[in-house]
Amino acid sequence: MAQTRSEHSFQAEVNQVLGIVINSLYSHREIFLRELLSNAADALDKLHYRSLTEHELLGDDRELEIRIEIDPEQRLLKISDNGIGMTRDELVENLGTIARSGSKRFVEAVKERGENATLDLIGQFGVGFYSSFLVADRVTVRSRSVDSDETWVWSSDAKTGFTVEPGEDRGRGTEIRLHLAEDQADYASDQRVRYLVRRYADYVGHPIRLAETQDSGEVDWETINEASALWRKPKAEIEDEEYDEFYKHVSHDWEAPLARTHFKIEGGTNFTGLLYVPRNPPFDLYDREHRRGVRLYVKRVFIMDDCEEILPVWLRFVRGIVDSDDLPLNVSRELLQEDRATRTIRKGVTKKVLDLLERIAKDQPEDYATLWSNYGVVLKEGIHYDEDFRDRLAALARFESSKSEEPTSLDAYLERMPEGQDEIYYAIGPSRNAVEGSPHIEALLKRDREVLFLTDPVDEWAVAAIPTYKDKKLVSAMRADLDLDRDESDEEKKQREEKAGGLEPLIGQMKEILADQVSEVRVSRRLTDSPVCLVVPEGGLHAHIERMLRAQQKGMPRQKRIFELNADHPVIAKLAGLAGDENRSAELSEWVFLLYDQACLAEGSPIADPPSFARRMAKMMGDALS
Ligand code: ADP
Repeated sequence: MAQTRSEHSFQAEVNQVLGIVINSLYSHREIFLRELLSNAADALDKLHYRSLTEHELLGDDRELEIRIEIDPEQRLLKISDNGIGMTRDELVENLGTIARSGSKRFVEAVKERGENATLDLIGQFGVGFYSSFLVADRVTVRSRSVDSDETWVWSSDAKTGFTVEPGEDRGRGTEIRLHLAEDQADYASDQRVRYLVRRYADYVGHPIRLAETQDSGEVDWETINEASALWRKPKAEIEDEEYDEFYKHVSHDWEAPLARTHFKIEGGTNFTGLLYVPRNPPFDLYDREHRRGVRLYVKRVFIMDDCEEILPVWLRFVRGIVDSDDLPLNVSRELLQEDRATRTIRKGVTKKVLDLLERIAKDQPEDYATLWSNYGVVLKEGIHYDEDFRDRLAALARFESSKSEEPTSLDAYLERMPEGQDEIYYAIGPSRNAVEGSPHIEALLKRDREVLFLTDPVDEWAVAAIPTYKDKKLVSAMRADLDLDRDESDEEKKQREEKAGGLEPLIGQMKEILADQVSEVRVSRRLTDSPVCLVVPEGGLHAHIERMLRAQQKGMPRQKRIFELNADHPVIAKLAGLAGDENRSAELSEWVFLLYDQACLAEGSPIADPPSFARRMAKMMGDALS
């Protein structure tokens, strides 16, 4: 190990991140203190947790605390903790690189979303420490790890990289010295620091002490924060602002949350939760490696960040803390996975979050609309995967609809449902526009049936999991099993069957012509204006979804669909005239291919052979114009 001074340059991403932080946060400089106090508190939490099993670890230095010293003359602000500390290698690693694989994506995301989104994005990537350069020209970090007896000093001006060298021992933990920039000198003020600590760090569960030098020269350490676990206080004693600051502390978000729930569950398993729904979704919500979960405490002792085991994956956007009285302090991730108490906690926490979502849906519809547009896709995963909560999630789901400008709930659909309708209709496609214009829903709309437009890729699986809602069947307008015959009179039925009988020869020939493309040809009931459409066999995947899957998975088998004809359409009547005339069979097959391609286009599917389509169209236009 190098025992001497060494010079390092920052990893490229650090430079970029530093640039972004400094450029976009200049009007929020004061948050540096929150970030540094948050890091110090984490370092104390980590040490405390280890000391539960390693009893000798604390030695004589038993009271875990954060100290702040101010020297206005030197423009110096010192923040120290007697926490876990850092070794030389950790200093280089933690403060010279950005360990998280997400840092590159962070930089990309900032570029993509523009400066305004930076505030939301920064916190998620642990760039907190670098915010010290918002106020300081030079930052010096002196640290001794609890696992080492060497003290090391890291120092940087953020411009030319950083140096690391051995330092004089000042005890376990980390001391951060901020050499304040000339125009930031007022951060070295007693009043300012007290105000910022109250504002940003009152909830830190360790004492934060400020040095007061007495006339006698003695130093008095005054505790300037409340230092108690916020979530253990009675709700009535907590201000909204405190709740919001606590959220920012645990989530690293910069904006206040959209909603929160603070609860205590007593009975077989006792635990407290303080959970929040962020207003903005993290941009990596759909990444498999996305950090998720909440902070887990056991009897107020910090155990782990990002605890995934106590929230289902479809609530991965929820932030906050859960504090359990029943888990052992030495609980590990492996143990959590098997533990019965964990399952009880997860269930209880999930119910509380669903209560919260239901409350927002009822009382704050605008916020709920934001929430749904941000997290709806994730919540729909729950409909698919989580039987226990399916009904509640189905009620929370919102869909685009033919009868409503705003996304609608299934309950609202049921309320609007006219007498005599006993099914819920939906259609699946890439966008509202595409589905709205698709031939499949013509007859439904004509009969004043509401159709839900499902345009999220996950919708196919979500609706498959809810075959019925409050005893009403969910039926796809695009599937073979749509049954519109029930409300037909005997007379209508007779007429329809006669017409279909007349089309038999045409249908027979079409089956031969399109043998490679479709599994069946039949008369349709769902069309009014269009001559033809393609429908999905019962239980089959919708065309849009099949197309998406095929794009991801080469060689996926192609599903043959059913070709439906509108018996009342003049084109079909004319074609029926051609059927059976042997001399015109070549002509008939040209028309049939053209119709088939048209059915693909009308539903938004690409056509398989565009040159042939173009040739047929040109020929047809030529004939028509001559
Ligand atoms: P984050 O805290 O989000 O991980 P930071 O840039 O603020 O990101 O800090 C990087 C890392 O440096 C921390 O994860 C931690 O390991 C280490 N660190 C920062 N401050 C301290 C401290 N006071 N004591 C011990 N380790 C610290």
